[in-house]
Amino acid sequence: MSKQSRRDFLKTTAIATTAITGLASKKTKAEGRGVYLPDKAMGVLVDTTVCIGCRRCEWACKTAHDMPTPPLENYDDRTVYENMRRPDYTSYTVVNEYENDDTGKFPIDVKVQCMHCNQPACVSACIVGAFSKLENGAVVWDESKCIGCRYCMVACPFQIPAFEYQKAIQPRITKCDFCSARQAEGKLPACVEICPVEALTFGKREDLIQVAKEKMRLYPGRYVDHIYGEFEVGGTSWMYLASQDFSKLAFPKLQRDPAPGVSESIQHGLFAYFVPPIALYALLGGVMWLNKNKKSESEEEQL
Ligand code: SF4
Ligand code: SF4
Ligand code: SF4
Repeated sequence: MSKQSRRDFLKTTAIATTAITGLASKKTKAEGRGVYLPDKAMGVLVDTTVCIGCRRCEWACKTAHDMPTPPLENYDDRTVYENMRRPDYTSYTVVNEYENDDTGKFPIDVKVQCMHCNQPACVSACIVGAFSKLENGAVVWDESKCIGCRYCMVACPFQIPAFEYQKAIQPRITKCDFCSARQAEGKLPACVEICPVEALTFGKREDLIQVAKEKMRLYPGRYVDHIYGEFEVGGTSWMYLASQDFSKLAFPKLQRDPAPGVSESIQHGLFAYFVPPIALYALLGGVMWLNKNKKSESEEEQL
């Protein structure tokens, strides 16, 4: 190991140890990695009773993120609904279709992406601070900090972060970034902008909750009495309305407590009285970080 590498390794180990020790403290959220600010938090209300399953949102998302995509007309193919899909490294968002309890009605289409949790488990789980929560509610991920440990994937209650398993060298974690770059330019998220039936409403999270309640008041019988995401795991930036129980639309049944609270409690229990796992965790982080940099260096040499 070169002098530089050894110094970097010790520095990384120290950082990782500090991070873990921080997790083992009584603090409740990932301070320094963004906090939930109700006044500034934006969100999207998804009305699944309006969505027509056209998948324009999938196309717009890929286009906005320079990802390969078939032409828009190919998205008219509805055979895709024969299989359930999850967001992955090829697509930050997907739409799935479910049977309608009311058999005389059209099936129900549900767009899936990162929920941008108010108190995100992925942020808390990441030992190197690669995830952060922005003031506008977006949860974003910094490729340059990621060591590929995939703790975020384990921690996420919605199973959102995806991993580029097919890439041998420096695979990335991928997920919806709430179109942060577009929002910074005053633009709407690409999926919201393209939706032809306004199934997606972008706005302040607090206002969207009022919009959802007003819809339920104006159209009794159209919606179940539940705004999914208002309270689940401490609340999420993306929220949903539906005409039937969310469990029938593959939404996980979750408690109101933020998921990080749960994972941190476990970590407190494990780490508060037992030092070796902390050192091991830190060491693991350091080794992964070094491996990542070694791969980058060898990639650069090959160029
Ligand atoms: S673009 Fe709108 S209507 Fe079409 S699938 Fe997406 S959310 Fe539904
Ligand atoms: S849905 Fe998962 S990936 Fe998205 S913010 Fe919440 S915990 Fe993080
Ligand atoms: S907010 Fe942006 S990144 Fe997220 S699903 Fe919509 S288009 Fe994709």
